[in-house]
Amino acid sequence: MKAIRGATTLSCDTAEEVRTATRELLQSIAKINGLKNDEIVCMMFSSTADIKSLYPAKAAREAGFCDCALYSSLEPDISGSLAMCIRVMVLADIDRKVKYVYLRGAKSLRKDLSDVINIALDGPAGSGKSTVSKLVAKKLDILSLDTGAMYRAVALKCINEGVDYSEKSQVDRVVENIDLRVEYGNGGQLTLLDGKDVSGDIRTSQVSMLASYVSAYPSVRAKMVSLQREIASRVSCILDGRDIGTNVLPDCLYKFFLTASPEVRAERRFKEDKLKGSTQTYEDILLEINERDAQDRNRAVAPLKCADDAVVIDTSEMTAEEVANTICERIQEKI
Ligand code: C5P
Repeated sequence: MKAIRGATTLSCDTAEEVRTATRELLQSIAKINGLKNDEIVCMMFSSTADIKSLYPAKAAREAGFCDCALYSSLEPDISGSLAMCIRVMVLADIDRKVKYVYLRGAKSLRKDLSDVINIALDGPAGSGKSTVSKLVAKKLDILSLDTGAMYRAVALKCINEGVDYSEKSQVDRVVENIDLRVEYGNGGQLTLLDGKDVSGDIRTSQVSMLASYVSAYPSVRAKMVSLQREIASRVSCILDGRDIGTNVLPDCLYKFFLTASPEVRAERRFKEDKLKGSTQTYEDILLEINERDAQDRNRAVAPLKCADDAVVIDTSEMTAEEVANTICERIQEKI
C-alpha cells in the first residue's frame, strides 16, 4: 500500500471551482502515478475553513471516483496558513514508487518537489540580459522569457490605438483588453499581439521609450506580472527583466543582476543596432539609456532594483558567453 499526497488551491469559493480544482488534482495524481481506478483504496481530503461551498469528497465522487472510500474533514483556521487550500491523501494498493502532486498556489507548500526551475535575470537596458538569457536557456535546455517584450507590446498597442499614454484611464483600457501571448518557434520567443507576430515591430526606439513609460502604470504591471508568473509556474525558464527577483518571483532560488557602465551598454546597443541598419548615433543611444535607467529606477511600482539575494555580475569586461557560463556554474553549485 502507498500513500500519495497532493494539494491545490481555489481562486474563489464556489462549488464549481471546488469541482474543477479537485478534478484537476485527482486526475493529475492518477496520471502522474499511472493509477487505475481499482488501485485506489481511499481518498482523505481536508480543506481550509474558508472553503464553504462544497466538500471535496463530493466533488471527487462527481468526478467519477466512485469505487473507493472518500472522506472530507475541515482544517482549523490557523492564521498565516495557505488560504483556500484542499489537501488529499490517496491510499493506493500498489508497490511502485509514487510522486506527490502539488498544484496552483499549493506548489508553495512543497517547493522541494517542483521539477520547474526558474531563473531571475534582472538589470538595466543594454546590460546584456537578453543575449545572456538565450545562451543560458540553450545550455540548460529551458525557455528564455523576455519580459521586456511584453511591456513593449503594450506600448505598441498604445501607439496603434492612438491613445494618449499620459492618460492613465486610456492605458488601463488598453491593457484590460489586450490579447498578448508568448510562443516559441525555432528562432526563439515570438510575441503575439492580438494574434499578430509583433516581435520585430516592438524593437523601435519609440517603442523602447514608451514601454519604459507605460510600464510604470500599476494596471500594466499587474497584468504582465500575472502572465509572467503563470508561464513561470508551468515551464522551466529564465526570465529577464527589471523586477523578476524583487517582485515577479521573489522566492526564486536563482537570482542574477547584470550591471555595466552606461557607456559600455550604449556602445553595445550602438553596435547591435548598426548591424540591423539603424542610423541612431552612439550619443543618442547613451542619452536614451540614461533616460530609461532613470525612468525605470525611479518609478513608484516595482522599480529596477537588485534583489538583496541576487548574485551581481558586472558584465563590462565580459563576453556574453562568459556571463552565461558564470550563471550556469552558480546554478550547478546550488542544485
Ligand atoms: O528589456 P527591454 O529594454 O526590452 O524592456 C523595455 C522596458 O520595459 C524597460 O525599459 C522597462 O521599463 C520595462 N520593463 C519592466 N519590467 C520588466 C521588463 C521590462 O518594467 N520586467
